[in-house]
Order: sequence, then structure tokens, then C-alpha cells
Amino acid sequence: MTNEQLQMKKKHVLESSDTSYIQDVFAYAEGYKAFLDAAKTEREAVNVGVDMAKKNGYVEYRLGDAIRRGGKYYFNNRGKNLFLFRIGTAPLDEVGLRIMAAHIDSPRIDIKQNPLYEDSGMCFLKTHYYGGIKKYQWPTLPLALHGVVVLKDGTTKQVCIGEDENDPIFYINDLLPHLGQDQSAKPLGSAIAGESLNIFVGGIPYMAEEGDDRIKMNVLHLLNEKYGMIEADFLSAELSAVPAFKARDVGFDRLFIGAYGHDDRVCAYPEMTALFASTDTVNSSLVILADKEETGSDGNTGMSADVMLDLIDEISHALGVSAARVRAASKCLSADVTAAYDPNFSEVYEKRNSAFVSHGTAICKFTGSRGKSGTNDASAEFMGYVRGVFDRAGVAWQTCELGKVDQGGGGTVAKFISKHNIDTIDVGVPVISMHAPYEMVSKVDVYETHRALLAFIDA
Ligand code: MN
Ligand code: MN
Repeated sequence: MTNEQLQMKKKHVLESSDTSYIQDVFAYAEGYKAFLDAAKTEREAVNVGVDMAKKNGYVEYRLGDAIRRGGKYYFNNRGKNLFLFRIGTAPLDEVGLRIMAAHIDSPRIDIKQNPLYEDSGMCFLKTHYYGGIKKYQWPTLPLALHGVVVLKDGTTKQVCIGEDENDPIFYINDLLPHLGQDQSAKPLGSAIAGESLNIFVGGIPYMAEEGDDRIKMNVLHLLNEKYGMIEADFLSAELSAVPAFKARDVGFDRLFIGAYGHDDRVCAYPEMTALFASTDTVNSSLVILADKEETGSDGNTGMSADVMLDLIDEISHALGVSAARVRAASKCLSADVTAAYDPNFSEVYEKRNSAFVSHGTAICKFTGSRGKSGTNDASAEFMGYVRGVFDRAGVAWQTCELGKVDQGGGGTVAKFISKHNIDTIDVGVPVISMHAPYEMVSKVDVYETHRALLAFIDA
């Protein structure tokens, strides 16, 4: 054997590619950017996913419906969690399901249930942040409000303000540096308190009636005109503030994409494009777009709920096979982002086991923290299977670990799938500035994740 054959070396994908490959990478990124702008919350991602599924011949399925071989279905769980599946000709209890799971919620600022107040000429909404944010990153950004308000009569009003060029945006105040002496001396994690992340929403007093809190009253009148809501309707609302930025190319050569919420739409989108691109009719595949990953996957739209089990039970029952055998034969790529090695913060990474941008999709055998705690840790056998599948398909891939051993860590939905006796491993796109309001990925890695997922379901 030659030295080259013996050694494992990391390689920038574009160092050995041609111009037609770069064109494919850039063309794929355009679809992804459009998805990012249309799907900033889990509800919006489900809506876009359903539209994409319908265009590709998928029909709605509800638990208990009939399922036939060759069928293509989508199952919308409460508008926040989407399952897409297609049934092939091979016996399901022998070949199992090819499962791809990603999450469609992202860190953000949620509005509290009793949020509205005014003080000193300004009206604000109280908030409670969602997921692992660095609080100091959120003041002084243009924010958009997304979500729903459910009125007492059950009517649901959709809210989306701040995305159109002509919309107003919303804003969290920060302290001027001139008066920031005490603030600057605080550790980064406590410089901005959770209770100070209040969102500015208005300043004109309501003059048609006498009384207190006239700015707040004016805002309530505006909300009532637009949505038919009263103050108590905030109690049954889910409103979230997200960055009002659109996805943009970054850098002179445009190779990177800056956007809110790459984590984890950058894996959710390739799961869907891979499923729709696959022409295979033998295998059966299941795409899961889960909610609530950023708060621990709890709740009935999160990955730790038994909804996936129910669905596999129903599919197995409809085909007359054992659900336990289907699960035992199934394989899953848990598709989520990982930390890209960042030379600006090299001290937290172990370079030999880090993911690098533009080096392809990243396989994580294990995640977790403090001694692999909370990890799925895929078996060597399944790792061997997956790398074989990727290599045979010519996919550019690398392996990774999330930072130095003692530096922290993180988890994914993998363990909520593998616990059901399903071989599962983490795969995904390396991200720069993960969980920041504006994250960055390389188009190459997004495209290679699409190719990797396609190779997996076609294998
Ligand atoms: Mn994630
Ligand atoms: Mn995350």
C-alpha cells in the first residue's frame, strides 16, 4: 500500500472539484436560502414542508389511515412536528425504515403570557428566551414577531411582522457604553439579565379616552384592529421574536451563507430534498422534523414523545408485520449541526477531532458532555456501515467531536431514537457561531449533507 492509501487526511472539498460541482453547490444553496427565509419557526417549517411534500406527490396521513406499498405520506403532528414517509416493496420487518431526523425549532426570544406594559414613554413586551442563547447577542438587533394568537372562540390568528421591507421591526434596548462601566465589568453570561430582554413595541398614546397607560392602550387598539384580540388573548398566544434578517451570501466569493436558524434547518431541508430526489422504490424511508430540541425534546411535538413509535406501530400494523422487528431492522441518521473548528477560538477545539468548514458532512459517533454523558454513542458496526455507504456514493464526509473533552458539549435527538432499538448516528453540517442570531455555514457542507442523506436512503 502507498502512504496515501494508508493515511487518513482531512481535505477541503473544493481543492479537488470542478466548476460544474461548484455550480451544483451554489444552485442547491439558492433553494436552501429560500427555505430559511420562509421557515423561521417550527410552525412555518411544517407549513413549508407540507407544501414541498404535496408538490412531490405526498398525501396527508392521519393515525389509523390505510397505508399501501408504494404510498407516499405526510403526517402533520399539531402543526409543529412533521413526518414524511414512503413505503417501498422490500419486506419492512427485514429491511426496516431508513429514518432521517432533524429539528426545526431554533433558539429565539419568546413572548411571555402577560407581556404588555409601558414605562417612560415606551411600550414593551416581557420575554422568556427559548433555548441556549448568549443573551448579550440579542439587544439592538432588528427583530420580527412570528407566531399565533388563539382567541377565546378558538380562532387562530397568524402573526408575522418584520419580514417584509415595509413592515416595522421590533427592538431590545442596550446600555450606552458611556454608562456601561458596571455592565462591562460583569461576566459575559450575566451582563444582560433575562428580565431585561424586553421588546420595544410602541410609543404613541391613545387619546380618544382618558386614563392610564395610554401607549399600551394604543398598542392594544392596534392589535385589536389587526387580529381582533384583547389583552387576555396573549394568554393563549405563542409569539416569538426572531432576527429580521434574511439569509445572505457571505464573503467575496459567496461560499458561505449567513442566516438565522441554520441549527437545524440546515439538516431539515436536505432531509426533504434527499427524500424527494430519491427514485428508489424498494426501501422505505421516514423523515422526522421535530420540535422542542432546543429545550430538551420534551412535550408532545418533541422527539422524546412517543409519536414516532405510534407511527411505526401504525405502519407495521397496516403492512401486517411486527413493529418490534421493523424497529430492530431500522437505521437512523440523526441530522443535526455540529461546531465547526473556528481558528478565532482555537483553544476550545481539539484539532484532530474537529469538523472543518467546507470539508463535507460531519459524522459524530457520540455527542454528550462530561465523559460522554447523555450520548447515543453509535456502535462501531453502524459507524462502519455508514462510512461504507458514504464512500461508495462518493460523498465528502469527515468525523467530529464537539470541542475539547472538558470544554462542555451538547446533545441531539439521537438518543430519543436509538432507545427504541434503532441503530442511530449523528450526521450534519458544521456551523460557525452556532446559536447566535446570525449563524454561518459553508454551501459545500450543506450540499454534501444532502448527498449523504440521499446515499443513506438509497443504500
Ligand atoms: Mn441542533
Ligand atoms: Mn441547537
